[in-house]
Amino acid sequence: MRWWLLSGLLIALLVIGSGLILTDDNSTEQVEDKNHDIKIPVLMYHHFSDDPQTSATITPDDFEEQLKFLKEHNFESIDVDDVITFVETGDDDHLPKRPVLITIDDGYRSTYTKAFPLLEEYNFDATLFMITERINQLSDEGYDFLTDDELLELEEAGIKVESHSVSHVPFTERKEDEQDHEWRNRIQNELEESKEVLEQLLERKVNYFAYPFGAWDTQIENWVVDAEYEGTFLVREGYVTEESHPQRLFRFGVTKDMTLDEFKSIFEPLLDEEEMN
Ligand SMILES: [Zn+2]
Repeated sequence: MRWWLLSGLLIALLVIGSGLILTDDNSTEQVEDKNHDIKIPVLMYHHFSDDPQTSATITPDDFEEQLKFLKEHNFESIDVDDVITFVETGDDDHLPKRPVLITIDDGYRSTYTKAFPLLEEYNFDATLFMITERINQLSDEGYDFLTDDELLELEEAGIKVESHSVSHVPFTERKEDEQDHEWRNRIQNELEESKEVLEQLLERKVNYFAYPFGAWDTQIENWVVDAEYEGTFLVREGYVTEESHPQRLFRFGVTKDMTLDEFKSIFEPLLDEEEMN
């Protein structure tokens, strides 16, 4: 064989060889990316009481068991801003290895008297979605709601306060004989006024919203965007991932009848096998 033919063959082999190595590297990278796919569980709570009367009420003891589980498995609470940044940019650099977002809806006073001390004890932050008409209402329908001062104290301590509308009506339902424009005006007011009330109290921008009763459709979503909310939460089960829509974020509702095992199963896909025992 002539020398130039031999060296030609050698070069060809080298090129093919390096191509194979490159392909190999690429596939390894893909596998690694897959392992790092982030799923953020968002928890949704409402009321806390030693004597739960509704399914959305849980006992402080159950809440403590759940926080203990999260702490023992190294979950760290994140801010709602972190969630939106992740969803919008896919950037997870700012996220802890095991993120969780704790949300509490409605603004019952038990958020302050029962949940807050436990969140402090176990070093978790949370996001509170407040019905603004209920602020300072004591004994409304048999329930106490948070006061101005309590909201400020919670916010100061890392419990972010965001909007859950003015009057907590399902946005998708019209009143009897309500015309299109009347319905739209009423909902716009729910969105804008609740935002303004909280922004005045907290002296910062309020950017997030949770739908009362999770009542959502694409028409209402447009009104939410018009009112300049950057992210909204539904009442639908599932994780927040890179693919999530910032105006349609899922949450896991924690209810009175949920066992600790059922609670743990939310986190099962995020743990290593030996940790589930
Ligand atoms: Zn609610």
